[in-house]
Amino acid sequence: MRFADAGDVEDTMTTAERVTNRKIGVIGMARSGIATAILARSLGGEPFVSDSGTAEHLKTQTDKLRKAKIPYETDGHSDRLLQSDYIIISPGVPASADIVKKIVSRGIPIFSEIEFASWVCDGKIIGVTGSNGKTTTTTLIGEIFLAAGFDTFVCGNIGLPFAQVADKIGTNGIAVVEISTFQLEWIADFRPDVALILNLSPDHLDRHGTFEAYKKLKYRITENQSAEDCLALNFGDVDTMRNNITTSANKNYFFDGDDSKAKVFVRNDELFVREYDEVKSIIRTSDIRIPGPHNLQNAAAAILASVEFGIKPETIAGVLRTFAGVEHRLETVDSVAGITFFNDSKATNVDSVCYALRSIDTSIYLIGGGRDKGASYTPLIEHGKGKIKGVILIGEAREKMFEALGREFPTQFADTLEDAVEKCFELARPGDAVLLSPACASFDMFESYEQRGKAFKQAVVKLKEGHRSGETVTD
Ligand code: ADP
Repeated sequence: MRFADAGDVEDTMTTAERVTNRKIGVIGMARSGIATAILARSLGGEPFVSDSGTAEHLKTQTDKLRKAKIPYETDGHSDRLLQSDYIIISPGVPASADIVKKIVSRGIPIFSEIEFASWVCDGKIIGVTGSNGKTTTTTLIGEIFLAAGFDTFVCGNIGLPFAQVADKIGTNGIAVVEISTFQLEWIADFRPDVALILNLSPDHLDRHGTFEAYKKLKYRITENQSAEDCLALNFGDVDTMRNNITTSANKNYFFDGDDSKAKVFVRNDELFVREYDEVKSIIRTSDIRIPGPHNLQNAAAAILASVEFGIKPETIAGVLRTFAGVEHRLETVDSVAGITFFNDSKATNVDSVCYALRSIDTSIYLIGGGRDKGASYTPLIEHGKGKIKGVILIGEAREKMFEALGREFPTQFADTLEDAVEKCFELARPGDAVLLSPACASFDMFESYEQRGKAFKQAVVKLKEGHRSGETVTD
C-alpha cells in the first residue's frame, strides 16, 4: 500500500509525525518484530505486538517485550490490533493469512519492517535482493565498505534487523540491507540509493504461487528509485534481462562475461569496471577467494555497488582476496580418507544446487531433500550429468526428487542426515566429493538451515573420528 492510499500516513510527514503517539500494531514476535516495536517505542510511538504462536513457545520474546514495557498478546490476534493506526508485519506472515485480509478489508495500512526502518535511517541504503547470493554479496559489500572506512551497517534478512540499527545510522552511514521477497511485499516509500537484483530463479513458489508473481515482488525494490539512484542488474541473468524492468533509476549491469553494455565485466580472466570511457582493472578472477561461477557474479555485483560510492580498486581487490565466504554456503568442511565434504545447507532452491554442482570439479555424491518449495528438480540432471555418482535423499521431498532424478542417477533414501553422510562415505572413493546441497527448506527435519548444516558438519567430524580410530562405519 502506498502512503498516498494510506489515509493519514502521508509521505510528506516527518519520521516523528509518522511514529510519535501513533498506535503501531506489530504482527510477529521474531527478531524483526521485536526490533520494530523497540524502535517504535524509542521514537515515542505506541507499539502493540501480536503473535499467533503460543505463550509457551514465545517466552524468550515476551520476556524481552516485558522488559521494554511494550504491550503484547500471544495465541492469536485480538481486536486491539485492529485499532492500530497502521501495522508493521513480519516477513513470515503471508498476505493470504486471515489476519492480513481482515486488516486490509478495514483499510488499515500495512508496512514491512524495512519500510519502517527506512523512515528512520538517515544514511545511504544499498538494498540487495535476488533468488541466490544475497547473504554472500551483502556480507562482501559490507566488508568492502568497512575496509574503505565507511560507517557501515550490514543488516536486514541477514540476521540483524534493519529496525535494530536504523536509528544509529547517521547521514554519513551506509546501510547494506539484505532484502527478501517477503520484505518487499509491503513497502510503500522504501527507496535504496543502490538496489541490486542479483538473479532470479523460481523460489518460494509455495508462498507466491507463480514465478511471475515472485518476480514482480522482487522488482518492487526499484519502484521508488529515481534518476539519481542506481539499479544494478545481472547482465547474464535471463529473467532480469528479458523482463525489461520498469524503473526510473540509472540501470547498470554487472556481468561474469564481456559486453560493452556492462559496467563491471570479465575479460581474459580479469574483472574490470567501465566508467565513462575509462576501463579500470579490479582483480584477476583467480585471486578471488570465494569459489565458483556464482561467486564471480556476486563479486561483480559487489564491485558495482562499491564503485558507485567511489571506493578504490585496490581496496575492493584487497577484500576479494581475503573474503572467505559465509558459513553453510558451499563451505569446505573437511577431508576424510581423501573424500572432501562440502556443506551447502543454505542451497534451499534448485538454482543454487546447480551452481554448487558447477563449482566442484570432482565426482560428487549429492545429499538432497527436505521440505519441497514447489519448483521442478529436473534442472539438476543437466548440471549433474557426468558429475553426480550418486544421490542420497532425505526428508519430505524425497519421493518427488526421486521421480525427477531416480532414472538419471543411482539414488537411495536415508532416514537421517547422519545416515546419508555415512552412506555417501561408504560409496565414495578418494578424490570424490560429498555435497550437502538440499534444494529444499530444512523445516521438516531441522529448525533451520543453520542447524542442518551444523548437523552435517558434526556427522563429518564423527566420521573422521571413527575413521581415525579404525572403526568400521555401518548403516
Ligand atoms: P541467499 O541469501 O540469497 O540465500 P546465500 O549467499 O546465502 O544467498 O547463498 C545461498 C545459496 O546459493 C548457497 O548454496 C550459495 O552457494 C548459492 N549461491 C550464492 N550466490 C549465488 C548466485 N549468485 N547464484 C546462484 N547461487 C548462488
